[in-house]
Amino acid sequence: MRDETKILRATLTPVKAGEPLHAGPVFAGPFHAPGDPTDTYSYARSHNPTWTALEAAIALLESGPGHEAQVRVFGSGMAACAAVFGAVLRPGDVVVLPSNAYFMARVLVQDYFVAMGVTLRMAPAGAAQAELMEGARLLWLETPSNPTMEICDIAALCEAAHEAGVLVAVDNTTATPLAQKPLSFGADFSVASDAKSMSGHSDLLLGHVAVKDAGLLAKIDRWRTMTGGIVGPMEAWLALRSLATLPLRLERSAANALALATFLDARREVESVLYPGLKTHPGHAIAAGQMRYFGPVLCFTLRDKAAAETFLTRAKLVTEATSFGGVTTTAERRARWGSDDVPGGFIRMSAGCEAIEDLLEDLEQALEAID
Ligand SMILES: *Cc1c(COP(=O)(O)O)cnc(C)c1O
Repeated sequence: MRDETKILRATLTPVKAGEPLHAGPVFAGPFHAPGDPTDTYSYARSHNPTWTALEAAIALLESGPGHEAQVRVFGSGMAACAAVFGAVLRPGDVVVLPSNAYFMARVLVQDYFVAMGVTLRMAPAGAAQAELMEGARLLWLETPSNPTMEICDIAALCEAAHEAGVLVAVDNTTATPLAQKPLSFGADFSVASDAKSMSGHSDLLLGHVAVKDAGLLAKIDRWRTMTGGIVGPMEAWLALRSLATLPLRLERSAANALALATFLDARREVESVLYPGLKTHPGHAIAAGQMRYFGPVLCFTLRDKAAAETFLTRAKLVTEATSFGGVTTTAERRARWGSDDVPGGFIRMSAGCEAIEDLLEDLEQALEAID
């Protein structure tokens, strides 16, 4: 079965006469649990049937030929990242991060794990990271990276890491496991914020960790139960419902992103465009080899802050907001946060599912308003 069919079927509840096709969320604190503990549901910080259904659906996407993924969902992408760092890193361990890793992940390691005796090594994403691997415990990858859209070769880095006895985690948020399956390329952990394309409606926070190894799964599960970074059943249910349309949403938004990137690339107001689907992107060949869709996120640079603000104010179909992967097009001037090393006119845009003609017309009139 293809992923599109698998994921649709996975959002259905097993059929039973007189029951709905999609069972509702299960709201519970404690579950009825008589006698000695068994493996049934007992307390909702440890497990919940709505999570189980969502985890099974995500696991189908994370699995590949020859390996079956197991998934644990968390209350946000950061809770999922923290679970990998927390379950794996101990004082004296070395972790290798890309220097442009998602800002919060970098700060989490710096402010907490380094403070507790973990050594952090950083290098630009890709081969430079491989050079820092000796004696390391964990290699962290992010491809395409947010927001600078760097691409690294997951399979090559996993091979080098495993030769050196290093575990590999991939932050797969921008791609989603429909577009890119890190575990299939050898990664030990596939981590994501599912607040982005996975759930896709800009209405919830969620994250997950996927693994192949039972020992690593036990560590991630234990971390979640102990730290309690859990997702509510309503959000888990909304995410499960939204996953059914992931293939449709991703196909459309990635096609729109490519059309917008191509259009912007040809405009005199635009200094540069970053989208891995463009043949001119330095990571295009690698991305094409490991991604099924290039995703909804594209970045471009206008002359300066003022030009970017004019563009964002004038564009009617582009909602100014952080985050990405929603069904409607959003964008922001990324330098406003001061956290990423990008110029003042740098815009990160997330293409939605609108008719492309409308988006192109809107972007054109917004660019023309820049003087
Ligand atoms: C958004 C994001 C996260 C954090 O996810 P939250 O759900 O916001 O906690 C981590 N990594 C990347 C690449 C992201 O884009």
